Amino acid sequence: MFDVCIIGAGVVGCALARELAQHGLSVAVVEKHDGPCKETSGRNSRVIHSGFHETPGSLKAKLAFDGSTQLIQYAEQRGIQFLRTGMLIAIPHGSIRAGLWREANALWKLWKAGRRYNVPFRFVMTPSGVRKIAPIRAVGGIFLPSVCVIDVEHFADSLIQDAKAAGAQFLFGSEVVQIAIEKNSHTVQTANAEVKARVLINSAGLHAHEVSAMAGGPRYEVEFIRGDYYELIGGIARWNLRTLVYPAMPPRSPSKGIHFGPRTDGRLYVGPSATAVSKEAPKEAFLEAARKFLPEVREDDLRWAYSGIRPKRVTKNGKSDFTIRLERSAPPLINLIGIDSPGLSASMGIACHVKEIVLTLSALEGGL
Ligand SMILES: Cc1cc2nc3c(=O)[nH]c(=O)nc-3n(C[C@H](O)[C@H](O)[C@H](O)COP(=O)(O)OP(=O)(O)OC[C@H]3O[C@@H](n4cnc5c(N)ncnc54)[C@H](O)[C@@H]3O)c2cc1C
Repeated sequence: MFDVCIIGAGVVGCALARELAQHGLSVAVVEKHDGPCKETSGRNSRVIHSGFHETPGSLKAKLAFDGSTQLIQYAEQRGIQFLRTGMLIAIPHGSIRAGLWREANALWKLWKAGRRYNVPFRFVMTPSGVRKIAPIRAVGGIFLPSVCVIDVEHFADSLIQDAKAAGAQFLFGSEVVQIAIEKNSHTVQTANAEVKARVLINSAGLHAHEVSAMAGGPRYEVEFIRGDYYELIGGIARWNLRTLVYPAMPPRSPSKGIHFGPRTDGRLYVGPSATAVSKEAPKEAFLEAARKFLPEVREDDLRWAYSGIRPKRVTKNGKSDFTIRLERSAPPLINLIGIDSPGLSASMGIACHVKEIVLTLSALEGGL
């Protein structure tokens, strides 16, 4: 009998296991793949966002701010590979002809939201100011020096090592197919194992809505957004681009926009798009996004690289935030639904937030 069973070893499940095991709880993690981060956590942009893009007051904004600060400190302490790229949210040169108001308005709104969080940033007001930061064609923008890009696999391995050192057990290659609910515990059934635990934490990413229903929790409506990436052949060394370059997107856009993403392995990507799962964005969309800032990019400089899918909770007011909720206290079920971007950046913040829920529950009940 474990105190806690976590379903899913994406980056959030791994951060949860570390946090809870280090607080003296016995923890089992059940994951269907043969290793961690084989779904959304391994197929994203790897950017450690500070919460600057998120709606002020949202859980996303708070947990990305708290989580990114912790994550960068943790990466420094553990020697996890990361690049201090900074992030330039820029207005491309061609916007002058199209009328600057849309981008300028988007930057103004970002600035207003971002300054609430004390994230250091500065305005860049001239093309030559932009070129001091990145060799692109843009009229200006906002620069956030603290944003980083991390090696996700290295980060997840380190979390798992810490969790195991504190006694957590990981069951890989174990898909949860059934969950029995008893008076004081859950029995989680996989094809080859059975795990009994008092608290069940559903961190199953794209399948969290299904796991919630399986665990007797609410039925959530979720939509799925696909993001494709193209690689710029020759990488950082050829294009000399070491900074994240994002377009200024209007508020409530479905994504933060197709951006230039340098990576720790020296590669350089253009992406992600944001489409329905069945629709791949055309190559022209990536070429157009790249040429806005780097007009010299040709079609054969771009090669399709990979795609990732994120789960977004569908709500009546159209706003999307993380849903992290204690659904039931006897036996306790905690759901994590719609953990889309910036879930990687927020992972350690989410882990602390869920730990508070578990500890409060434990205090109310005189122990787990
Ligand atoms: C294109 C794209 C770009 C993104 N860019 C960024 C970014 O730059 N920065 C950022 O912070 N965030 C980004 N994100 C979001 C980020 O990737 C996610 O928020 C984060 O990875 C979510 O992690 P997770 O652990 O919740 O989910 P997942 O990584 O999906 O993990 C869930 C795990 O649960 C397992 N599972 C599911 N069902 C079962 C079952 N029945 N039994 C056992 N195991 C099960 C799955 O196999 C999986 O391993 C991006 C996402 C996408 C798609």
